[in-house]
Amino acid sequence: SAFARYTRPEFARLFRALHLDVTYRAGRGDHLTQETPSAGNGETARDVLDLVGGAGASLFGHNHPALLEVARQCLEEETPFNAQASIRPGAAELAERLSSLVGATTGARYVTTLGNTGAEAVEAAVKHATVEHRRRLGALQEQYEVQLRRVRRDGMADTPCASGPAAGRPCEELLNQALERIVELRGLDPVFVSLANAFHGKSTGAGTLTHGTNVPADLHVPGPQHRRLSDWTPQAVVTAFDSLRAEVPSVTVDSSGVPHSTVRHLSPVAACFVEPIQGEAGVHEVPAETLAALRELADLHDAALVFDEIQCGMGRTGTFLASEKSGVAADYYLFSKSLGGGLAKISALLVREDRYVPEFGRHHTSTFADDEFSSRIATASLDLACGYLDRITETGTLLRDRLAEVASRWPDAVVAVRGRGLLWGVEFALPRPASGLLRELFDSESLGYLIAGRLLHTHGIRVIPTLSAPTTVRIQPSALLAPADVDRIATAFDEVAGLFSRGEYATLLEH
Ligand code: PMP
Repeated sequence: SAFARYTRPEFARLFRALHLDVTYRAGRGDHLTQETPSAGNGETARDVLDLVGGAGASLFGHNHPALLEVARQCLEEETPFNAQASIRPGAAELAERLSSLVGATTGARYVTTLGNTGAEAVEAAVKHATVEHRRRLGALQEQYEVQLRRVRRDGMADTPCASGPAAGRPCEELLNQALERIVELRGLDPVFVSLANAFHGKSTGAGTLTHGTNVPADLHVPGPQHRRLSDWTPQAVVTAFDSLRAEVPSVTVDSSGVPHSTVRHLSPVAACFVEPIQGEAGVHEVPAETLAALRELADLHDAALVFDEIQCGMGRTGTFLASEKSGVAADYYLFSKSLGGGLAKISALLVREDRYVPEFGRHHTSTFADDEFSSRIATASLDLACGYLDRITETGTLLRDRLAEVASRWPDAVVAVRGRGLLWGVEFALPRPASGLLRELFDSESLGYLIAGRLLHTHGIRVIPTLSAPTTVRIQPSALLAPADVDRIATAFDEVAGLFSRGEYATLLEH
């Protein structure tokens, strides 16, 4: 087919092998209409319950009527699609709404940079943090140079410091040493931190922060300097990069004109990235204590703390920010996926107003960013998100209870059910069939896809595994999910888990 030849040859082969080579013609809410080749029974279309939900992008389902209405209005009003170098009311309204929604939790105000995809918001955050880091070091260098001139002017160059770690050493010598260290640090590339199993996207910078998506080594393009945090225990997090902090002497002159030495620490770490709930890693919540430790780590290094809420934010977990309950505030927030309401491609980087570098918005631009169509749909999505929070929590609780029942009925098949609100991961145990051939088939890479095949063909339910944890199947329905759909999900997962538990592998493969 053209798909195999002209766009994704490898996927086409894989989908065919796994019986996932299906086409969806229409979508509404959580339901997709699958095209079925006329099999002689007159059936040409089939209803499929979509739990992939655009990998977290369809919190409002497919083609939500309120969002379609906004889209229609834009078209009917002949809203200009491209209007660069003009005041863009849609972008302004969206940015203001985002600032007040996040600010309602953190008490701060934010400046928003709009983009087109999740990875692009990550790249923008890397870039802004780099600029912020460089400017801070530049300003510090200037501050020391001014102090050095003042010390010379006042004839204090050779005056020894009266106290502190460098007591006895002359002012000029200390300030020169500090300036040397700062210049050295300014010559180093900024360092970015992310967590083990993190997923932040696949572009060059974002791909460096992402971990373990089974990408062949030669497909990885080196991005910015990077360190990974593998130990999430708070003490380990706070001290993880102590060795990167350089001691820089400092001189303060008291009211009687006597100099004293102190010491400050500077670090090349520019930002720490974290998904408050790791989505593609198999839905793992980062504990509140770890988030608090990351806050401490960022402060220690004068770095920005970035919460990537691209998958878990926008109300998906029952609160607008997934990080809300932790009580930890970040400096930057990232949104995308459901921000576009399933109709528009849009992402947002929010930077706390007092950290924002004003020229950033002049130099970091994109042809399609700030467009009226996406912005207006995104603002309407924010309204929907706020209105659905209670429903998300209610349906999420029902879904959790029903999945937990399945897990307790088949403990040898289901390892864990993890998540919150409408973000769930069901981890299956890797089966160990007696037959060597079957063992080859049920490896950790294909298990999730084999489950996806069974659920699709037997139960009309669409799932895919999470990207970096392929034995975990994601359940990310929309806020519209009906209780009857929850029953359908529970029944289907129960059947599949039962087949695994009883070792009925042949049935699992037949469809
Ligand atoms: N961050 C997170 C947390 C994500 O889940 C994703 C997408 N799965 C991204 C970033 C990248 O978004 P996109 O695919 O739109 O580039």
